[in-house]
Amino acid sequence: MRGVQLAVLGGDRREAEAARYLAGRGARVRVWGQPAARLSDGVQAVSRAQEALAGARLIVGPVRGTDGAGRLWSEAGPLELDEMDWASLAAGALFLIGVADTTLRDRVAAQGASLVEYRDRDDFAIWNSVPTAEGAVFMALKELDITLHGSSCLILGLGRTGTTLARLLGAMGARVTVVARRSSHLARAEEMGCRAVPLEGLEEAAAGADVIFNTVPAPVLHAGVLRRVPPRCLIIDLASAPGGTDFACAAALGLRATLAPGLPGIKAPVTAGAVLGRVVEAIWRESEKG
Ligand code: NAP
Repeated sequence: MRGVQLAVLGGDRREAEAARYLAGRGARVRVWGQPAARLSDGVQAVSRAQEALAGARLIVGPVRGTDGAGRLWSEAGPLELDEMDWASLAAGALFLIGVADTTLRDRVAAQGASLVEYRDRDDFAIWNSVPTAEGAVFMALKELDITLHGSSCLILGLGRTGTTLARLLGAMGARVTVVARRSSHLARAEEMGCRAVPLEGLEEAAAGADVIFNTVPAPVLHAGVLRRVPPRCLIIDLASAPGGTDFACAAALGLRATLAPGLPGIKAPVTAGAVLGRVVEAIWRESEKG
Protein backbone atom coordinates (compact mmCIF):
# COMPACT_ATOMS: atom_id res chain seq x y z
CA MET A 1 0.00 0.00 0.00
CA ARG A 2 3.10 2.21 0.04
CA GLY A 3 2.24 5.73 -1.16
CA VAL A 4 -1.39 4.94 -2.01
CA GLN A 5 -3.59 7.91 -1.09
CA LEU A 6 -6.58 6.68 0.81
CA ALA A 7 -9.68 8.28 2.37
CA VAL A 8 -11.62 6.73 5.27
CA LEU A 9 -15.15 8.11 5.59
CA GLY A 10 -17.35 7.68 8.67
CA GLY A 11 -17.76 4.55 10.77
CA ASP A 12 -16.70 4.06 14.36
CA ARG A 13 -13.65 2.80 16.21
CA ARG A 14 -13.33 -0.14 13.84
CA GLU A 15 -12.77 2.14 10.81
CA ALA A 16 -10.35 4.26 12.89
CA GLU A 17 -8.37 1.09 13.62
CA ALA A 18 -8.46 0.14 9.93
CA ALA A 19 -6.99 3.59 9.16
CA ARG A 20 -4.18 2.88 11.63
CA TYR A 21 -3.55 -0.53 10.02
CA LEU A 22 -3.48 0.90 6.49
CA ALA A 23 -1.17 3.78 7.49
CA GLY A 24 1.10 1.11 9.00
CA ARG A 25 1.13 -0.60 5.58
CA GLY A 26 2.45 2.61 4.01
CA ALA A 27 -0.76 4.25 2.73
CA ARG A 28 -1.26 8.02 3.09
CA VAL A 29 -4.52 8.09 5.03
CA ARG A 30 -6.98 10.95 5.54
CA VAL A 31 -10.03 10.42 7.71
CA TRP A 32 -13.31 12.34 7.67
CA GLY A 33 -16.11 11.82 10.19
CA GLN A 34 -14.15 10.50 13.16
CA PRO A 35 -12.96 12.30 16.32
CA ALA A 36 -9.35 13.37 15.69
CA ALA A 37 -8.35 12.30 19.21
CA ARG A 38 -9.08 8.70 18.31
CA LEU A 39 -6.77 8.60 15.30
CA SER A 40 -3.24 7.28 15.43
CA ASP A 41 -0.03 9.02 14.38
CA GLY A 42 0.40 8.90 10.63
CA VAL A 43 -3.35 9.31 10.02
CA GLN A 44 -4.62 12.78 9.13
CA ALA A 45 -8.03 13.97 10.36
CA VAL A 46 -9.80 16.38 7.98
CA SER A 47 -12.92 18.45 8.59
CA ARG A 48 -14.45 18.25 5.09
CA ALA A 49 -15.10 15.21 2.94
CA GLN A 50 -13.59 16.87 -0.14
CA GLU A 51 -10.24 17.22 1.67
CA ALA A 52 -10.25 13.47 2.26
CA LEU A 53 -11.39 12.65 -1.28
CA ALA A 54 -9.07 14.99 -3.20
CA GLY A 55 -6.47 12.81 -4.92
CA ALA A 56 -7.61 9.61 -3.17
CA ARG A 57 -7.33 6.45 -5.28
CA LEU A 58 -8.98 4.30 -2.64
CA ILE A 59 -11.97 5.27 -0.46
CA VAL A 60 -13.01 3.16 2.51
CA GLY A 61 -16.62 3.64 3.59
CA PRO A 62 -18.16 2.19 6.77
CA VAL A 63 -18.79 -1.52 7.33
CA ARG A 64 -22.35 -0.63 8.31
CA GLY A 65 -22.90 1.04 4.95
CA THR A 66 -25.53 3.71 4.39
CA ASP A 67 -28.86 4.83 5.82
CA GLY A 68 -30.83 3.90 2.68
CA ALA A 69 -30.64 7.47 1.34
CA GLY A 70 -26.99 7.49 0.28
CA ARG A 71 -25.68 8.89 3.59
CA LEU A 72 -22.73 7.12 5.19
CA TRP A 73 -23.08 5.45 8.58
CA SER A 74 -21.12 6.99 11.43
CA GLU A 75 -21.56 6.56 15.15
CA ALA A 76 -22.30 10.30 15.46
CA GLY A 77 -25.12 10.13 12.88
CA PRO A 78 -25.38 9.84 9.08
CA LEU A 79 -22.85 11.73 6.96
CA GLU A 80 -23.93 13.34 3.72
CA LEU A 81 -21.60 14.14 0.82
CA ASP A 82 -22.60 17.36 -0.99
CA GLU A 83 -22.09 18.16 -4.69
CA MET A 84 -18.62 19.61 -4.07
CA ASP A 85 -17.61 16.46 -2.18
CA TRP A 86 -18.81 14.17 -4.97
CA ALA A 87 -16.98 16.31 -7.52
CA SER A 88 -13.75 15.55 -5.59
CA LEU A 89 -14.13 11.80 -6.15
CA ALA A 90 -11.72 10.98 -8.96
CA ALA A 91 -12.75 8.96 -12.01
CA GLY A 92 -11.08 5.57 -11.73
CA ALA A 93 -10.99 5.63 -7.91
CA LEU A 94 -12.07 2.53 -6.02
CA PHE A 95 -14.86 3.14 -3.47
CA LEU A 96 -15.21 0.36 -0.88
CA ILE A 97 -18.15 0.09 1.51
CA GLY A 98 -19.69 -2.66 3.65
CA VAL A 99 -22.96 -2.48 1.76
CA ALA A 100 -24.35 0.32 -0.41
CA ASP A 101 -27.81 1.57 -1.36
CA THR A 102 -29.01 2.60 -4.82
CA THR A 103 -28.35 6.31 -4.23
CA LEU A 104 -24.72 5.70 -3.33
CA ARG A 105 -24.22 3.19 -6.16
CA ASP A 106 -25.55 5.75 -8.65
CA ARG A 107 -23.38 8.59 -7.28
CA VAL A 108 -20.20 6.54 -7.41
CA ALA A 109 -20.97 5.34 -10.95
CA ALA A 110 -21.77 8.93 -12.06
CA GLN A 111 -18.23 9.95 -11.07
CA GLY A 112 -16.71 7.09 -13.10
CA ALA A 113 -15.40 5.39 -9.94
CA SER A 114 -15.79 1.68 -9.13
CA LEU A 115 -17.74 0.39 -6.15
CA VAL A 116 -16.95 -2.74 -4.12
CA GLU A 117 -19.32 -3.89 -1.37
CA TYR A 118 -17.06 -5.92 0.86
CA ARG A 119 -19.31 -7.13 3.70
CA ASP A 120 -20.37 -10.34 2.00
CA ARG A 121 -16.90 -11.32 0.81
CA ASP A 122 -15.81 -14.66 2.28
CA ASP A 123 -12.49 -13.35 3.63
CA PHE A 124 -14.21 -10.49 5.49
CA ALA A 125 -17.07 -12.66 6.78
CA ILE A 126 -14.78 -15.48 7.94
CA TRP A 127 -12.23 -13.26 9.70
CA ASN A 128 -15.12 -11.27 11.16
CA SER A 129 -16.81 -14.43 12.41
CA VAL A 130 -14.14 -14.78 15.11
CA PRO A 131 -14.95 -11.59 17.06
CA THR A 132 -18.65 -12.26 16.34
CA ALA A 133 -18.52 -15.75 17.86
CA GLU A 134 -16.44 -14.56 20.84
CA GLY A 135 -18.90 -11.68 21.36
CA ALA A 136 -21.82 -14.11 21.30
CA VAL A 137 -20.14 -16.38 23.85
CA PHE A 138 -19.35 -13.33 26.01
CA MET A 139 -23.03 -12.31 25.94
CA ALA A 140 -24.15 -15.81 26.87
CA LEU A 141 -21.69 -16.05 29.76
CA LYS A 142 -22.88 -12.73 31.16
CA GLU A 143 -26.51 -13.94 31.22
CA LEU A 144 -26.22 -17.59 32.16
CA ASP A 145 -26.05 -19.07 35.63
CA ILE A 146 -24.61 -22.32 34.21
CA THR A 147 -21.35 -22.95 32.36
CA LEU A 148 -21.38 -23.32 28.63
CA HIS A 149 -19.37 -26.49 29.25
CA GLY A 150 -21.94 -29.27 29.34
CA SER A 151 -24.80 -27.00 28.24
CA SER A 152 -27.07 -27.69 25.27
CA CYS A 153 -26.38 -25.09 22.60
CA LEU A 154 -28.40 -24.85 19.43
CA ILE A 155 -26.89 -23.06 16.45
CA LEU A 156 -29.23 -22.15 13.61
CA GLY A 157 -27.40 -21.97 10.28
CA LEU A 158 -23.92 -23.25 9.45
CA GLY A 159 -22.52 -20.46 7.30
CA ARG A 160 -19.42 -18.44 8.11
CA THR A 161 -20.59 -17.31 11.56
CA GLY A 162 -22.33 -20.55 12.52
CA THR A 163 -19.27 -22.66 11.68
CA THR A 164 -16.90 -20.57 13.81
CA LEU A 165 -19.37 -20.49 16.68
CA ALA A 166 -19.85 -24.27 16.52
CA ARG A 167 -16.08 -24.79 16.75
CA LEU A 168 -15.73 -22.34 19.65
CA LEU A 169 -18.61 -23.78 21.67
CA GLY A 170 -17.43 -27.33 20.94
CA ALA A 171 -13.94 -26.46 22.18
CA MET A 172 -15.53 -25.12 25.39
CA GLY A 173 -17.23 -28.48 26.00
CA ALA A 174 -20.77 -27.45 25.07
CA ARG A 175 -23.11 -30.03 23.56
CA VAL A 176 -23.67 -28.41 20.19
CA THR A 177 -26.61 -29.09 17.89
CA VAL A 178 -26.59 -27.48 14.46
CA VAL A 179 -29.91 -26.89 12.71
CA ALA A 180 -29.57 -26.26 8.97
CA ARG A 181 -31.59 -26.67 5.81
CA ARG A 182 -28.77 -27.82 3.55
CA SER A 183 -27.72 -31.47 3.60
CA SER A 184 -24.06 -30.52 3.09
CA HIS A 185 -24.23 -28.33 6.22
CA LEU A 186 -25.69 -31.23 8.20
CA ALA A 187 -22.85 -33.43 6.97
CA ARG A 188 -20.26 -30.80 7.95
CA ALA A 189 -21.86 -30.40 11.38
CA GLU A 190 -21.52 -34.13 12.03
CA GLU A 191 -17.94 -34.12 10.76
CA MET A 192 -17.23 -31.39 13.35
CA GLY A 193 -18.64 -33.58 16.13
CA CYS A 194 -21.97 -31.75 16.47
CA ARG A 195 -25.45 -33.19 16.44
CA ALA A 196 -27.09 -32.24 13.15
CA VAL A 197 -30.81 -31.58 12.77
CA PRO A 198 -32.65 -30.57 9.59
CA LEU A 199 -34.72 -27.37 9.78
CA GLU A 200 -37.93 -29.42 10.03
CA GLY A 201 -36.70 -30.75 13.38
CA LEU A 202 -36.14 -27.31 14.92
CA GLU A 203 -39.21 -27.31 17.19
CA GLU A 204 -38.17 -30.57 18.84
CA ALA A 205 -34.50 -29.59 19.09
CA ALA A 206 -35.45 -26.24 20.67
CA ALA A 207 -37.27 -28.02 23.48
CA GLY A 208 -33.99 -29.16 25.05
CA ALA A 209 -31.86 -26.05 24.55
CA ASP A 210 -30.10 -23.95 27.20
CA VAL A 211 -28.96 -21.39 24.61
CA ILE A 212 -30.07 -20.79 21.02
CA PHE A 213 -27.76 -18.83 18.73
CA ASN A 214 -29.44 -17.79 15.50
CA THR A 215 -27.41 -16.91 12.40
CA VAL A 216 -30.22 -17.35 9.86
CA PRO A 217 -31.46 -14.03 8.42
CA ALA A 218 -35.04 -15.31 8.02
CA PRO A 219 -37.95 -15.80 10.49
CA VAL A 220 -36.94 -19.23 11.81
CA LEU A 221 -37.67 -18.63 15.50
CA HIS A 222 -41.41 -18.08 15.03
CA ALA A 223 -44.22 -18.65 17.51
CA GLY A 224 -44.45 -22.37 16.74
CA VAL A 225 -40.81 -22.87 17.74
CA LEU A 226 -40.78 -20.36 20.61
CA ARG A 227 -43.67 -22.13 22.30
CA ARG A 228 -41.42 -25.22 22.61
CA VAL A 229 -38.42 -23.31 24.04
CA PRO A 230 -37.95 -23.93 27.79
CA PRO A 231 -38.18 -20.86 30.09
CA ARG A 232 -34.52 -21.22 31.14
CA CYS A 233 -33.30 -20.87 27.54
CA LEU A 234 -31.44 -17.80 26.36
CA ILE A 235 -31.83 -16.71 22.72
CA ILE A 236 -29.04 -14.68 21.10
CA ASP A 237 -29.94 -13.58 17.59
CA LEU A 238 -26.87 -12.74 15.52
CA ALA A 239 -28.58 -12.37 12.15
CA SER A 240 -28.71 -8.88 10.70
CA ALA A 241 -31.77 -6.77 11.59
CA PRO A 242 -34.58 -7.62 12.07
CA GLY A 243 -33.03 -11.01 12.99
CA GLY A 244 -34.80 -14.35 12.75
CA THR A 245 -36.76 -14.20 16.02
CA ASP A 246 -40.32 -13.12 16.68
CA PHE A 247 -39.23 -10.89 19.57
CA ALA A 248 -42.77 -9.80 20.45
CA CYS A 249 -43.82 -13.41 20.82
CA ALA A 250 -40.66 -14.25 22.83
CA ALA A 251 -41.41 -11.35 25.20
CA ALA A 252 -45.04 -12.46 25.57
CA LEU A 253 -43.81 -15.95 26.47
CA GLY A 254 -41.36 -14.51 29.03
CA LEU A 255 -38.29 -15.72 27.12
CA ARG A 256 -34.96 -13.89 27.20
CA ALA A 257 -34.22 -13.04 23.56
CA THR A 258 -31.75 -10.43 22.31
CA LEU A 259 -30.82 -9.15 18.88
CA ALA A 260 -27.05 -8.66 18.95
CA PRO A 261 -25.84 -6.62 15.96
CA GLY A 262 -22.33 -5.28 15.37
CA LEU A 263 -20.51 -7.53 17.84
CA PRO A 264 -17.04 -7.28 16.22
CA GLY A 265 -17.04 -3.47 16.44
CA ILE A 266 -18.38 -3.54 20.00
CA LYS A 267 -16.41 -6.44 21.46
CA ALA A 268 -13.11 -6.28 19.60
CA PRO A 269 -12.80 -3.05 17.57
CA VAL A 270 -9.01 -3.34 17.26
CA THR A 271 -9.21 -6.85 15.81
CA ALA A 272 -12.22 -5.91 13.68
CA GLY A 273 -10.34 -2.86 12.38
CA ALA A 274 -7.35 -4.98 11.43
CA VAL A 275 -9.70 -7.39 9.63
CA LEU A 276 -11.11 -4.48 7.64
CA GLY A 277 -7.61 -3.21 6.88
CA ARG A 278 -6.52 -6.64 5.60
CA VAL A 279 -9.60 -6.94 3.39
CA VAL A 280 -9.05 -3.44 1.97
CA GLU A 281 -5.48 -4.43 1.18
CA ALA A 282 -6.66 -7.67 -0.49
CA ILE A 283 -9.20 -5.80 -2.64
CA TRP A 284 -6.58 -3.23 -3.60
CA ARG A 285 -4.16 -5.98 -4.67
CA GLU A 286 -6.89 -7.70 -6.70
CA SER A 287 -7.72 -4.42 -8.46
CA GLU A 288 -4.05 -3.79 -9.26
CA LYS A 289 -3.80 -7.25 -10.87
CA GLY A 290 -6.85 -6.36 -12.98
P1 NAP B 1 -23.85 -17.01 5.76
O1 NAP B 1 -22.48 -17.53 5.66
O2 NAP B 1 -24.59 -16.65 4.53
O3 NAP B 1 -24.73 -18.06 6.63
C1 NAP B 1 -26.10 -17.92 6.76
C2 NAP B 1 -26.71 -19.26 7.14
O4 NAP B 1 -28.12 -19.09 7.19
C3 NAP B 1 -26.44 -20.38 6.15
O5 NAP B 1 -26.32 -21.57 6.84
C4 NAP B 1 -27.72 -20.36 5.30
O6 NAP B 1 -28.01 -21.60 4.71
C5 NAP B 1 -28.74 -20.06 6.34
N1 NAP B 1 -29.97 -19.51 5.78
C6 NAP B 1 -30.13 -18.38 5.06
N2 NAP B 1 -31.42 -18.19 4.76
C7 NAP B 1 -32.10 -19.25 5.28
C8 NAP B 1 -33.46 -19.62 5.32
N3 NAP B 1 -34.42 -18.87 4.73
N4 NAP B 1 -33.79 -20.76 5.96
C9 NAP B 1 -32.85 -21.52 6.54
N5 NAP B 1 -31.53 -21.24 6.55
C10 NAP B 1 -31.17 -20.10 5.93
O7 NAP B 1 -23.89 -15.69 6.66
P2 NAP B 1 -22.89 -15.34 7.86
O8 NAP B 1 -21.74 -14.57 7.31
O9 NAP B 1 -22.68 -16.55 8.69
O10 NAP B 1 -23.81 -14.30 8.65
C11 NAP B 1 -25.03 -14.77 9.22
C12 NAP B 1 -25.85 -13.58 9.68
O11 NAP B 1 -25.16 -12.92 10.74
C13 NAP B 1 -26.05 -12.51 8.59
O12 NAP B 1 -27.34 -11.96 8.73
C14 NAP B 1 -24.98 -11.47 8.91
O13 NAP B 1 -25.33 -10.20 8.43
C15 NAP B 1 -24.98 -11.53 10.41
N6 NAP B 1 -23.77 -11.12 11.09
C16 NAP B 1 -23.96 -10.56 12.32
C17 NAP B 1 -22.87 -10.19 13.07
C18 NAP B 1 -23.14 -9.63 14.45
O14 NAP B 1 -22.28 -8.96 15.01
N7 NAP B 1 -24.28 -9.92 15.01
C19 NAP B 1 -21.57 -10.32 12.57
C20 NAP B 1 -21.40 -10.91 11.31
C21 NAP B 1 -22.52 -11.31 10.57
P3 NAP B 1 -27.98 -21.80 3.10
O15 NAP B 1 -26.53 -21.89 2.73
O16 NAP B 1 -28.76 -23.02 2.92
O17 NAP B 1 -28.61 -20.54 2.50
